[in-house]
Amino acid sequence: MNDIYSTLDVPGPIPTAISEPFWSALQRGEFALQRCESCGEAIFYPRAHCPHCWSEKLTWRTASGRGTVKSFSAIHRPGHFAWSAVAPYVIALIELEEGPTMLSQLIVDAPADARVGMHVTLRAVQIGKYTLPFFEPARETRQET
Ligand SMILES: [Zn+2]
Repeated sequence: MNDIYSTLDVPGPIPTAISEPFWSALQRGEFALQRCESCGEAIFYPRAHCPHCWSEKLTWRTASGRGTVKSFSAIHRPGHFAWSAVAPYVIALIELEEGPTMLSQLIVDAPADARVGMHVTLRAVQIGKYTLPFFEPARETRQET
């Protein structure tokens, strides 16, 4: 991954009272997801209520950081100019092992290396002054279930 990422001056996330545990965990290199204690579903993005059963009994759990690429797009003209220095790059929908889908950046050498169905793992990446949850191709192969 290009070192230029750490120098990007991009607009970052603004943690709220609800999402702060997610961002704090990420700064420690951990990937945390909310889990509903009523129905057992994992939840992303962070919320006050479970989107499956509306329970407020949500707790934070360390997640695997493993997922699969559902879809992706190569970005040649970023929405914010500060990302231009690393374009083209790949934005992907990642289906997490725990269930939720999240939008993230996929770290590949070139957009042509991205594949739907690709197994990926989370990598906490320093982008300017922010730590963001990106994904990279999984190093070890996994058994299909
Ligand atoms: Zn629930």
